[in-house]
Amino acid sequence: MTSKSKRFTVGWLYPDLMNIYGDRGNILTLVKRAEWRGFDARTIELPRGTTGGMEDVDVFFFGGGQDREQALVYEDLIDHKQSLLERAVAGGAGILAVCGGYQLLGHYYQTAEGERYPGIGLIDVRTEAGKKRFIGDVVVDAQIEGLVPPTLVGFENHSGRTYLGPAARPLGKVRSGAGNNGSDGTEGCLQGAVVGTYLHGSLLPKNPHLADLLIRRALTRHGVSELARLDDSTELAAHEKILQRAQPRAPER
Ligand code: GLN
Repeated sequence: MTSKSKRFTVGWLYPDLMNIYGDRGNILTLVKRAEWRGFDARTIELPRGTTGGMEDVDVFFFGGGQDREQALVYEDLIDHKQSLLERAVAGGAGILAVCGGYQLLGHYYQTAEGERYPGIGLIDVRTEAGKKRFIGDVVVDAQIEGLVPPTLVGFENHSGRTYLGPAARPLGKVRSGAGNNGSDGTEGCLQGAVVGTYLHGSLLPKNPHLADLLIRRALTRHGVSELARLDDSTELAAHEKILQRAQPRAPER
């Protein structure tokens, strides 16, 4: 029986519905980077109607989805996941939420047609979709103390415009791309143990430093303070490639 201090569990919310633009790569990165450090790493899937094992999860992942998929999950998120997610986060678990998942952790997501899907208000953000989509590479100057490298890179494809309330702070400033809404220069959200972002790609394979931040923070409660260094030369070469490739884009209105 693996001791809690050597176990690492990823909880994958709605893997069948909220998983687009390679978001599954985030799950693989979290699991492998824990395994490479000798942890007994595993993933539990959390589709609609299931909650088993949520109390053991160290990091939840909530991927992206089109409006149609968001319409299929928001009620289950409220009815079956919200209270357990709140309890898990209060106990030190982390959440990485991308795009559609990010939006539904906020107060609401409103489609371009004006249909409003209530979120669970775990983060102080609200999202209203516009007619045009933001699509392309994104480079972010992260606002996370001590993050090395200090940038995050990815790919965005969303119509939602997300605005942060006072309890949330931006994941970073957009150097290239649209980010949260294409107008206030922010990307993503940090609030407690929740990281919200529009960065697909998938995000973590090209941002191993963010993956380690999520792993380390979640394992702190099991007495793990540091993670062994890994050779991230390939991952950081991919990161650098996006940095070079991304050209400043005028935000679409
Ligand atoms: N449907 C949402 C939007 O268009 C989320 C899209 C996504 O997850 N990529 O903003």
